[in-house]
Amino acid sequence: MHKRTFLKQSGLLAGAAILFPSGWASLVAQTRLFSPDDPFKLPELGYAYDALEPYIDARTMEIHHARHHAGYVRKLNTAVKGTPYAELPLRQLMRRLAPSDTALRNNGGGHYNHSLFWKILAPSADTEPSPNLMEAIQKHFGSMEGLKETMLKAAKTRFGSGWAWLAADAEGRLFVTSTANQDNPMMRQVADQPGYPILGIDVWEHAYYLKYQNRRGDYLEAVWNAVNWEAVSKQYGISSHPFIVWETLDEFHNIMAATFHPLEEGDLQPIKSRSGELAAEAKRLAKGHIPARFDETGVQDNLKALRKDSAALHKLVKNGGSDEAITKGLNALQEVFHRIVGACMEE
Ligand code: MN
Repeated sequence: MHKRTFLKQSGLLAGAAILFPSGWASLVAQTRLFSPDDPFKLPELGYAYDALEPYIDARTMEIHHARHHAGYVRKLNTAVKGTPYAELPLRQLMRRLAPSDTALRNNGGGHYNHSLFWKILAPSADTEPSPNLMEAIQKHFGSMEGLKETMLKAAKTRFGSGWAWLAADAEGRLFVTSTANQDNPMMRQVADQPGYPILGIDVWEHAYYLKYQNRRGDYLEAVWNAVNWEAVSKQYGISSHPFIVWETLDEFHNIMAATFHPLEEGDLQPIKSRSGELAAEAKRLAKGHIPARFDETGVQDNLKALRKDSAALHKLVKNGGSDEAITKGLNALQEVFHRIVGACMEE
C-alpha cells in the first residue's frame, strides 16, 4: 500500500489540512492569525458550535475553539519557528519535549489536547464503544459505569486547571490519569503515567464556566453524555499502531517520509543531505528494544536488511553516486520499511 494511503487509513494524518469553521468572523480572524507556512493549523470542529446543546452551550464552544484553541495554535507556531520541532508531527513533539520546554508544554499540549477533545465529542449520545474497546473497559474498570466513576473522580479532584484522561500504555492496558494545565500522557518526560490518550476531558474553567460556573461536577456529568464512543474506539485502535507503540520506528518513519516523498517528485536533495541520519536511525532501530508484540523473526530479519541497505545508501551518497542509483536505493529501503510496518500490523 502507498504510504500516504496507508497513513490516511490508519487515521494518522487527520487534521493536516487547513480547515475553517463556519462563520465569516472566524474566517476573517483565522486569515489574520495563520499564514500558510505555519506548520500547525486550527482543525475544524466537524459540527456546529450549538451541536452539543444542552450539554455544552454554543457560546462556550465558540470561545473555546475560535479563541482558546486558536491561541494555542498561534503561540505554538511562534514557539517552534526556526527550531527542529517545526518539522515534527505533533505526537513526536509531545514525546520529545522536556519538562523545561514551557511554551511547548502549554501551547503544543493545548493544541494536541483540544484537537482530541473536539474529536471525541459528538452531537448525539447514541454512539457505542467498539467490541474491542468495551472488552478492555470491562477488563480494567469492570463496566462502563466503573470507567465513568473513575474518570469523573480524576476530573473532579484535579486541582485547578487540567485534564482527565483515559489512555492506553504500550502493552495496550487502559488506565485513567489526570494532568495539570495543558500537559498530557503523551509527554513521557512530564506525565506521571505515560501512554496514548484515548479520551480527554477538559477541566479548565473556560470549558464550562459560562453555563455551569463553579459546578464542575454538573459539567462532568453533562459532558459524559456528549462523548462520541465511535471516535474514542478509533483512538483505541490507533493506540496499537506500530508508530504509536514503537517510538524508534516512528522516528525512522519521520526521516523516511521527509526524504522519500520529495524523491517521488524528483527532488533528491533531502535524501542527499539526510542519508547519514537515516542510516544512524536504522542502526538505532536494529540495535534497540523491539516491543514484545512485534518481536518476531520476520521483523528482526527486515530490521537487519534496513540497517544494511541504509548504510549502503549513505555510502553511495557520500561517494557521489548517480541520481538513478540513489533513487533505486531509497525505493528499495522504503520497501523494506513497509515490510516491517506490514509485519507489525499483522500481529
Ligand atoms: Mn480548553
